[in-house]
Amino acid sequence: MGAGGLRRWMEDLAADVADLTLSRACVACGEIGSVLCSACKVSLIRVHRHEIRPWGTPSPHQQAGAGPVVVASTYDGAAKRVIIAHKEHGVLGLTQVLGSMLAVSIAALGEGPFAVVPIPPHRDAVRRRGIDTLGAIADRATGELRAAGWCANAVPLLRRRADGGRHVGRSAPERRAAVQDTMAVDARMISRLVLGGGLIVVDDVVTTGATVWEAVRTLWASGLAVEGIAAVAGTERPAASGMIN
Ligand SMILES: [Zn+2]
Repeated sequence: MGAGGLRRWMEDLAADVADLTLSRACVACGEIGSVLCSACKVSLIRVHRHEIRPWGTPSPHQQAGAGPVVVASTYDGAAKRVIIAHKEHGVLGLTQVLGSMLAVSIAALGEGPFAVVPIPPHRDAVRRRGIDTLGAIADRATGELRAAGWCANAVPLLRRRADGGRHVGRSAPERRAAVQDTMAVDARMISRLVLGGGLIVVDDVVTTGATVWEAVRTLWASGLAVEGIAAVAGTERPAASGMIN
């Protein structure tokens, strides 16, 4: 077994153990039997556009904007419990359903080809969780899209320069100030971009949009255009006119 195979085997094992020890009951409603019952799974997908508040100095790319922001669900109910169980409690068996959700929101942005750029993880979060949870979701989402015939690759094009800290409890201006200049383009990853493919910035949860917008600004500053933003879930009420599914 090679290093990649061993890693996958360890991940599968970790997922199985998490399922056994943490979640013989549905993480969303508590029904005994599986990590996520079929009723809750069905309730997860409610794709819609999400409004964020862009800010910052105009750039040549800004004429075209960063494209729309699409989320697969509202960040409440079953979706919120599933995201928290995966991210904070290590129920890695949920990577599949979260990847499917992200794939649906990416697919709503166009036909590709796409390079999917995840928000880079905080170093302390990866240490604590032992895994880049969003990176795993993005890999799963692009794998599903490729299986369905799309050209989509997850490219970790951004890295953290500094830690902006946790956003919980901060106002939108405070969030913007905290994330400013916290990311940089990893030049080694540029060669992995699909020629002619649009960049899609992805995150698990979009709230005010401060983090995803900072990612867009960082990519712009390197001369890279962004075609859209996709997330598993969004916290704010969708614009009524923005419903697309
Ligand atoms: Zn359930």
